[in-house]
Amino acid sequence: MLITQLKAKETIVSLAAGKKVFIINCQGCKEVHFPEAEVKELEKELADSGNVTGTITTDYICNPENMKLRLEKHKSEIEAADAVLVFSCGVGVQTVAGYLEDKKVYAACDTYPLPGFQGVTPLEYNCDQCGECYLNLTGGICPITACSKSLVNGQCGGSKNGKCEVDSEMECGWERIYRRLAQVGRLDALKCPTQVRNFATDDEVSK
Ligand code: SF4
Ligand code: SF4
Repeated sequence: MLITQLKAKETIVSLAAGKKVFIINCQGCKEVHFPEAEVKELEKELADSGNVTGTITTDYICNPENMKLRLEKHKSEIEAADAVLVFSCGVGVQTVAGYLEDKKVYAACDTYPLPGFQGVTPLEYNCDQCGECYLNLTGGICPITACSKSLVNGQCGGSKNGKCEVDSEMECGWERIYRRLAQVGRLDALKCPTQVRNFATDDEVSK
């Protein structure tokens, strides 16, 4: 299971500011530690602003097959939105971003580790539960797991023909991130100040 914690309210509000948003709310792991009450309150505030085009509240959005069907049912509401705001662990956000390649997809939560079963997580959408989710800066592709060195500040410079210098069978994660940001018109995200990873969050869960 994964533990999720809501990002700071100001962060979430700024992600949605001036945009029409579609909200996806995953309660698959709510029995562990999903901030259900806080999410409901925030969702209500966003809905009251009149900028929410629709909402899905469901479980296990990390299951790609089920998620595809659910997204298709809400196609017009998603098309009407400028961005999709996802309340889930990092796997759920990556699953949604994988389907909505032309849409800005934002993570509203940070994900912490808890040993054991992790929902119905498919391996291609990996989350290392780093406790400080970077998906909003990387177009919904996890830099911790998509880059062999878990770099959070951009490409190492060693890739050749789009492949990772550590594993030539693997696509360079940062080239994927660059392409994705270009596709959704968010290359400006790469100009933000250096992100220093807080490794202390890795251990915070069991306290
Ligand atoms: S950046 Fe990656 S490892 Fe960290 S919480 Fe987000 S998806 Fe998980
Ligand atoms: S080549 Fe790309 S994926 Fe590999 S370590 Fe360097 S930045 Fe990361």
